[in-house]
Amino acid sequence: MMNKTVVIKEFGGSDQLKIVDMPAGEPGDGQVRIAHKACGLNYIDVYQRTGLYPLSLPQALGMEAAGVIEAVGAGVTHVKVGDRVAYASMPPGSYCERRVMPAAQVCPLPDEISFEQGAAMMLQGMTVQYLFHRTTPLSKGDTVLFHAAAGGVGLIACQWAKSEGITLIGTAGSDEKCQLALDHGATHCINYTTENFEEKVKELTGGAGVDVVMDSVGESTFEGSLNSLKPLGMMITFGNASGPVPPFNLAQLGAKGSLKITRPTLFTHIGKHEDCQEMARHLFSKVISGDVKIVIGQEFALDDVTAAHDALEARRTTGSTILTV
Ligand code: NDP
Repeated sequence: MMNKTVVIKEFGGSDQLKIVDMPAGEPGDGQVRIAHKACGLNYIDVYQRTGLYPLSLPQALGMEAAGVIEAVGAGVTHVKVGDRVAYASMPPGSYCERRVMPAAQVCPLPDEISFEQGAAMMLQGMTVQYLFHRTTPLSKGDTVLFHAAAGGVGLIACQWAKSEGITLIGTAGSDEKCQLALDHGATHCINYTTENFEEKVKELTGGAGVDVVMDSVGESTFEGSLNSLKPLGMMITFGNASGPVPPFNLAQLGAKGSLKITRPTLFTHIGKHEDCQEMARHLFSKVISGDVKIVIGQEFALDDVTAAHDALEARRTTGSTILTV
């Protein structure tokens, strides 16, 4: 059985994305084969394609998808043939029609959630879950600064924060994107291409600063993010869309008010089967209750993966992006 798959043989631009036919294979112990219906596109796919996050080559790309189980290896008990499922997982390889993979991070997808939503939400939604519930204590009334608030992770975060009674100050790259973040629950949104977000955060918080910053933009926002925190505040740096954060002097954390800093990744949090299933169930419950709507801003055919990467890198996307199979 052949299987259309997107691979890179060298790191580089979107022209390195090649569609090849590979055998689908049979699942071994603890594995399943999934017939994909849709795959999710994530900014991490760009870091992997450019080599910022190094991989051994050649490498199939893509970190999440949704589909139907079509074969199950020995020892798999939580899913069976015919089940609707979705997943986010390492190593990459989800941009394809069919995939054999370890079952541990594969989650049963509730009937209320479409394959397209499932593919769009697993990686970004479980990221929001761990940012708000597993990284630093957050309580009703706390204020969070969240960069790139109109993106895939961003629009889920805006809605999640609102549902938890957390004040979210978003940033985004245009007035239209800011409006989208506000429409999805951000309390304020700053266009950080036309305004100094650090000054604006001071103004919005009466000079106090925020309790927590969630910064996935990296190089261009890092310093301003630290300066936006209250004393004892928590900096969560979890991405580098503008480039990696350069080395910095830890003493700055003391000078700026005994700040804390962490650099988490989803794959630590979903590394254990039970944690992964529990985080997914929490995410599904938020979506089914209507607290969080999954916004699929763009949809591309798997064959058009190059155009999808170009749009994401050029900041032309909002919400989540999927590739249909
Ligand atoms: P997004 O849809 O948010 O796309 C990235 C956004 O970053 C852009 O739309 C853009 O929004 C903003 N951005 C700011 N500066 C730049 C720049 N120079 N070049 C390109 N984009 C820029 O992507 P995702 O939702 O997939 O991911 C959001 C971030 O979260 C990424 O950095 C990703 O790596 C990170 N992430 C980290 C995880 C972890 O566990 N550590 C897990 C999941 C995601 P705007 O125009 O509004 O500025």
